[in-house]
Order: sequence, then C-alpha cells, then structure tokens
Amino acid sequence: MLVGAGGLLAFRLSEREQLAEPDPVEPLLPPGATAVLSALRSGSVVVDAAEAVVWASTTAYGWGLVRDGRLTDEEIVRTVRTVRSSGEVATLDVEPRKRRRGGPRLLLSVRVAPLTSDLVVVLAEDRSELARVDDVRRDFVANVSHELKTPVGALSLLAEAVEGAAEDPAAVLRFASRMQHEAARLSSMVNELIELSRLQNDDVGAHSTLVPIDDVIADGCDFVRTAVAAKQIDLRATGEHGLVVEGVREQLVTALRNLLDNAVNYSPERTRVVVAAHAVEDRVEISVADQGIGITEADQTRVFERFYRVDPARSRATGGTGLGLSIVKHVCANHGGDVVVWSAEGSGSTFTLRLPAATAPPATPMDDPSTLIPPLRKVVP
Ligand code: ADP
Repeated sequence: MLVGAGGLLAFRLSEREQLAEPDPVEPLLPPGATAVLSALRSGSVVVDAAEAVVWASTTAYGWGLVRDGRLTDEEIVRTVRTVRSSGEVATLDVEPRKRRRGGPRLLLSVRVAPLTSDLVVVLAEDRSELARVDDVRRDFVANVSHELKTPVGALSLLAEAVEGAAEDPAAVLRFASRMQHEAARLSSMVNELIELSRLQNDDVGAHSTLVPIDDVIADGCDFVRTAVAAKQIDLRATGEHGLVVEGVREQLVTALRNLLDNAVNYSPERTRVVVAAHAVEDRVEISVADQGIGITEADQTRVFERFYRVDPARSRATGGTGLGLSIVKHVCANHGGDVVVWSAEGSGSTFTLRLPAATAPPATPMDDPSTLIPPLRKVVP
C-alpha cells in the first residue's frame, strides 16, 4: 500500500509540475487540444471569453484570419459570440481577402464550436478550388447554351426566309447556302464539345503508344490542305525528324490541326506558316508560327479559355467555335506537357506544344529552314 501511495504521490507531483509549467502558447487549452488542432488540415483558431486568440494554426495566420491576437473577420467574431451564448455549433462561408485588392480568391467554409465553457474553436476549410470549378462549370453551361442558340436561331430564321422566298430561286439558293454554313458551325461545335468532354475524362496513359512526331505533322498538315491552298499560304515543315512522344496520336493530330487551322484563319493570304519540331532538353517542342494578325498581350492569357474569342465576328466568319485552343490545352495536359504562345500584334503568332520526349532513336538535325517535309511541297502554290 505504501508503494502504491508513493507511486500515486509521485504521479500527482509530476502532473502538478507539468501544470505548473504550461506551454506559454496554450495557457488555457485542454491537454492534447493543440496536437489535435495542429493535425487537422483546416486552419484553426481558439478564442477565449475576452475574444482574444489563445491559439491559432499557421494556416489560419497564412489566411489572414488572425492579426494582433484578434480574429480579423467581423462575421466570424459575431458567430463566435452567438456560439458562446447558445452553445451550439454554427457554420458560415467567408472570403477574408474580398476587401483586399489583388491576390487569388480565397473562400473559406468556417465551423465555430464551443470547446470549453470559456473557449470557442474556429475551424476553416479552403473551398476556393471547389468554388472556382463550380464557377467555371456554371459559366460553361451558360456559354454552351448561348453558343448553341445562335446557330439554331439562325437556322430557324433562314428556314422561314426560304419559305417566304419560294418564288425566288436565287434567294432560296442564297438562304440554303447560309443554312449550310450555320449547320456546319453547329455540327463542328457539337463535335468539339464532345471532344472536349472526352479529353477531360481521358486517361492517356491507359492507351498511349509511341507516336512519331513526323506522322503527327504530316497528318495535321493534311487536314488544312484545302484551306492552305485557298488562301495561297506557304506552309512549311522544318526542324528535326525522328522525334517521338508517348501518347495518343489522334489527340496530338487534333491539337496540331487546331493550331494550323488558326494560323491559316488568322493570317492574310499569301503569308507563310511554319511548323517546326525540335528536341529541347527532355522535351519535344512542336511550334506553329504564322505572319497573321497577332494577339495582344492581354488576350494571350485568355485565348485558351473555352469560348474566348478576340473578335467573335471574325471567328464566326471562319467557322471558329472558340473551343480550339481549349482542346489544345487539354491535349497537352493529358500528355504531361503544356502549350505556350508568343505573339506580336500585326506581326504574327507562334504557338508551341511542349511534350515530354519518349526514348526513341536519335533525332536527325535538319535545322536548315529550306528543308521541307516532301508532301507539303505539293500544297505550296
Ligand atoms: P476559334 O474557334 O475562335 O479560332 P480558338 O480557341 O482556336 O477558337 O482560338 C481562340 C481565339 O484566339 C480566336 O478566336 C482568335 O481570336 C485567337 N487566335 C487563336 N489563334 C490565333 C492566331 N494564330 N493568330 C491570331 N489570333 C489567334
């Protein structure tokens, strides 16, 4: 019994010692609370009855929830008071950076709960990414509806016009040709939307093969042959042969084709478009350079957004949907690469696909720009 009593005394003493020297940062917190709060992914803050912050995680400081030992957000302070008097958990959404200019949007989902009779804990989760995805989805649905309504509306008006002009064969032909144009636009938009949604859910790794870049360039150029000939564009392919990437050939051809389509559509007649492939460090870069209208610096950051068009009327006239570059961006991302743009207004643009190189036979340097991939010569008038 003596030994037992001694042990108990020793335990109590050591406990008292521990209590006598509390951690200066957490004077009032129940034992273990900071360990739990620190382990949480949420930003956490504990406030006492005087609304002073007695503990806050680094995340909470980083989000600007605490300054000079107080909570910064009025709404959270009010909720803390309510929770203290009601004893019930409350939730709210706050945007602590809203009033500050600049910086990315920060949306926090906050839970406020009583911890002890004096202390209240505030737990905040970052919901910014979810909110952003939600905004993009909402914008996308609104845009799709709008973009689809335009050609559908035009088709219905044209059909009415054809009916009204039944006696005038020339007018009927004119309206019919415009109907064809609108129908083609509608069809390419639907196809591109399907393509985009497929790309977003695609796991390239599951069906990737070794894709020779020479073939991608040959196929891509083949697709734009007619448009190139119609505008008497001097289309050239140059750079290195024998480069290989790992991926899905059709996707890579689609990406290059979209860049070539744009290069032709946004360039005056009788200008030059150059496709070049190069090995740069452990990447393969395929660039498409044109001498077209160019893109302002402000627009360069936006052209990859879905449906973004610098000049909607011009894009519509060339059958553009505003989805082409968005598809290019997704293809690159699916292949572990990216797409970059250089452009000067009035002088031209260069879009470059940068993809991880696959291990392949050594490339043959062919840097002389006069070296053309033979089939392209046929289309150069
Ligand atoms: P679109 O179907 O309208 O061509 P994209 O997504 O392919 O859609 O391109 C978005 C916008 O970027 C175009 O509407 C155009 O304003 C601009 N753009 C794309 N490529 C070029 C280029 N090579 N030269 C000038 N502007 C371009």
